Amino acid sequence: MTISARALHNTAHQLDVIANDLDIVREHYARERARVDGYPGGATDAGPTRRHSGELTTTEVIAAQLEHLRHNLEYIEASLNVIVVTTAHVARACRGAVGTRITTPPRCDGRGLEGFDEWGIPDCDMPATKAGLCGNHYMACYRWRRDHGRPVLAIERGDS
Ligand SMILES: [Zn+2]
Repeated sequence: MTISARALHNTAHQLDVIANDLDIVREHYARERARVDGYPGGATDAGPTRRHSGELTTTEVIAAQLEHLRHNLEYIEASLNVIVVTTAHVARACRGAVGTRITTPPRCDGRGLEGFDEWGIPDCDMPATKAGLCGNHYMACYRWRRDHGRPVLAIERGDS
């Protein structure tokens, strides 16, 4: 799946908004936590114990809400960390991708081989697959050598 530049710009904009809002989110959590911190035993007459089965006390409700907020903030912080680290890695990968040139495969070149002027083409631009020759010229060379009583050309042709 390829991602569009528009989607990336949109994400960059959202990150910009998040960067501006992050302190507000953190401050909200800290403020809410401080607001209920030291709240005496649930602040109801019933105290911290359950009144009926399945019914939560005020203390339990506060604890659950605070836990939800804390979990939400942790999710935000952890996710942003992943985004920051991953973005740095992707940026490095992009720089590396642009700097990588694929090695050009060697081209067919039979110059210097026996009978080349009979079976070869000096400017053949096909990729070399066997003995430095393209498939067609390897076969043409093979037939020429066979017809002239020469041994089969080594697949990996040396400089000799
Ligand atoms: Zn060729």
